[in-house]
Amino acid sequence: MRRVAILGSTGSIGTQALDVVRGHPDDYEVVALAAGRNADLLAAQAAEFGVDPRWARVCGDDADTLAELASHPDADVVLNAVVGFAGLPVTLAALERGRRLALANKESLIAAGPVVNAVRAAGGGEIVPVDSEHSALYQCLRSGTRGEVHRVLLTASGGPFRGRTPAELEHVSVEDALKHPTWDMGAKITIDSSTLVNKGLEVIEAHELFGLDYDHIDVVVHPQSVIHGMVEFTDGATIAQLSMPDMRLPIGLALGAPGRLDQPFGAIDWTTLSSLTFEPPDLEAFPALGLAYAAGRAGGGAPAALSAANEVAVEAFLARRLAWRSIPEVIAEVLADGVGNVATVADVLEVDRAARDAARIVVDRLACRS
Ligand code: NDP
Repeated sequence: MRRVAILGSTGSIGTQALDVVRGHPDDYEVVALAAGRNADLLAAQAAEFGVDPRWARVCGDDADTLAELASHPDADVVLNAVVGFAGLPVTLAALERGRRLALANKESLIAAGPVVNAVRAAGGGEIVPVDSEHSALYQCLRSGTRGEVHRVLLTASGGPFRGRTPAELEHVSVEDALKHPTWDMGAKITIDSSTLVNKGLEVIEAHELFGLDYDHIDVVVHPQSVIHGMVEFTDGATIAQLSMPDMRLPIGLALGAPGRLDQPFGAIDWTTLSSLTFEPPDLEAFPALGLAYAAGRAGGGAPAALSAANEVAVEAFLARRLAWRSIPEVIAEVLADGVGNVATVADVLEVDRAARDAARIVVDRLACRS
């Protein structure tokens, strides 16, 4: 029996994680739950899974409560399914206590990579990725030694605007950007997928998780979202992980790794799968991917600033204050201002704060032209 804390339980990843647990009542017990605001759903989840109400809390913006829930004394696995930088306390608290961290919240690792990795080393905790691409790499990497890895490939669906020219992307509505072709996800990651910011964040995530340098992390557009990630070894062999797009597979693997679930999610029907296609990403129409590579290579506070600026820009886009095409402009301007370093948690919080302040100023200026 593994005891799990599911933080961000009312969202897309959180509810799917509870679905995995629901199918495996003898394998998992839920000991803690957290939501941002959705008290009704949280209460229903606590009642269904028998979670003590003291450990099922609405956190709002209260980072201390979130950290407390992530520190549940009996949790073997902490699933960080909170969206955005708000998930940082979960990542840090789980690793400080030497727990397994099932990580969906990529933003915490991207903003605080060096700090998170130091905490992981000191606390003895382990990160198992939930992001489907990184879960794929985690699985493919079992096929060889680290020294045998030549490069990894992250696949991208290309989002709803794949194939459009920059001119065609001048006037994109919120509704269009929220229509992801293959995955059903929360609003923020769906917008991030439409701009390819999500893929850029994933490139940095791969760097932090697997210790690979950026010249050995590539992105390929694969519209069917059946291959999630590939590892190319030094002898030219490529190992890929395939499944239909269903997040319950990587969630289940992160909860139970190295073991696999005995219930299939996303198994492929090869009689109906007619083609798998690939193309390079269009860096002109989707400049955010290039910005993310540059921020990752720059290191220091650049990934944190990129992620914070993006959060502010996405919020403004969803509030219809900013044009979709301006999201990468906000990121580029904030990065161009120069960013600090992230050696401590205090540094991370300061870089995040400064980047948000700078991003709000850019958003206010660009909002006038939208
Ligand atoms: P959602 O927006 O669907 O859910 C976010 C969850 O976080 C909700 O439960 C929300 O609570 C909670 N939350 C927000 N702020 C706080 C806070 N301050 N304290 C506690 N809880 C909070 O997001 P997703 O599930 O789509 O994404 C979650 C993370 O997983 C993101 O980092 C995303 O990038 C990553 N991810 C998601 C994938 C997907 O398929 N959805 C795939 C791969 C990665 P409330 O409901 O009350 O607002």
